Amino acid sequence: MVPIQMVDLKRQYNKIKPQVDAAIEEVLNSTAFINGSAVQQFSAELQTYLGVKHVIPCANGTDALQIAMMALGLEPGDEIITPSFTFIATAEVIALLRLKPVFVDIDPKTYCLDISAVEKAITSKTKAIVPVHLYGQVADMEPLMALAARHNLYVIEDNAQAIGADYTFADGSRKKAGTIGHIGCTSFFPSKNLGCYGDGGAIFTNDDEIAAKLRMVANHGQSARYYHDVVGCNSRLDSVQAAVLRIKLPLLDQYIEARRAVADAYDAGFADVPAIITPYRAENGYHVFHQYTLQLEGADRNKLQEFLASKGIPAMIYYPVPAHRQKMFADFGGAEFNLPVTDHLTHRVISLPIHTEMDQEQLDYIIQSVKTFLNTPA
Ligand SMILES: *Cc1c(COP(=O)(O)O)cnc(C)c1O
Repeated sequence: MVPIQMVDLKRQYNKIKPQVDAAIEEVLNSTAFINGSAVQQFSAELQTYLGVKHVIPCANGTDALQIAMMALGLEPGDEIITPSFTFIATAEVIALLRLKPVFVDIDPKTYCLDISAVEKAITSKTKAIVPVHLYGQVADMEPLMALAARHNLYVIEDNAQAIGADYTFADGSRKKAGTIGHIGCTSFFPSKNLGCYGDGGAIFTNDDEIAAKLRMVANHGQSARYYHDVVGCNSRLDSVQAAVLRIKLPLLDQYIEARRAVADAYDAGFADVPAIITPYRAENGYHVFHQYTLQLEGADRNKLQEFLASKGIPAMIYYPVPAHRQKMFADFGGAEFNLPVTDHLTHRVISLPIHTEMDQEQLDYIIQSVKTFLNTPA
């Protein structure tokens, strides 16, 4: 059996090696390492794929979130509502900009923002909401946008884990995750659903004015060459990464289907296991399974993790400590937030390997191993 990894980038690369190598070589020969034609071409292609007016490439997903918040003219002390059950970057940039992270609980089924909890957390200082499409599931954007509109708030989607996911509105219309809020942010970290071969990120918006600000902030606050209007930063997607992404973007839908097939196999394999709650799939979102994260009931997930490791199967805890309980946020009153669903799930979730290259033999072996640990008959 091929050794099992959380993400098998090597086998994925081998399938597209000639195209990727040629594209990288083209950049090397052009020596246009920064802002080369691959960067503009990729941005235009991603715009088309997402059906969004502007794509602003940047250096990574964390920068994307930071630039988004810098572009909105927020002031120190402004409150930003966000889940605590997320990768730290979402909340970190809020604190970095001296804004106030206001952590709210999540829906126990979708693992995404609980809209009623968001509503309760809104104060006169609230300026923005940052939903996270965790594990590839799209947060419930339609009621969230309606709530934001009623309170005149910005919505910045953290779409680092859900690029390519669709969201269906009540009227049947559809939009891509990341293009529904005022701004969407994503990451091209290698293990993400659309990953490059280094660091990369992008910001999306349909708003011309916001787009102009995002571009300015990402480029030293520059309005014309060497004229700097606002304090910005330096955040770029380099040409080599854009060249790799141009090869992979046309494969994204195929990659998503491969991930969903893995999720289907796990779902079927665990359907009769009482100790396992398989991931919920919201009806209005097309889950792209960045992670396959289950909940264990009445079994020790750390012991399962150790057992699987002894069988050569990696499994991960995303994430072992929620943001509000990180030392980083002690000075922000992190521990004072009361987030029972977040705390509960933090102790129960475990993520199994999922990627585009998994085969039936690996899946059968993982499913059987989990069942053996839980003493479920085959
Ligand atoms: C990966 C990730 C980020 C940050 O992306 P980087 O490119 O690593 O900076 C932000 N938010 C979420 C939810 C992520 O998964």
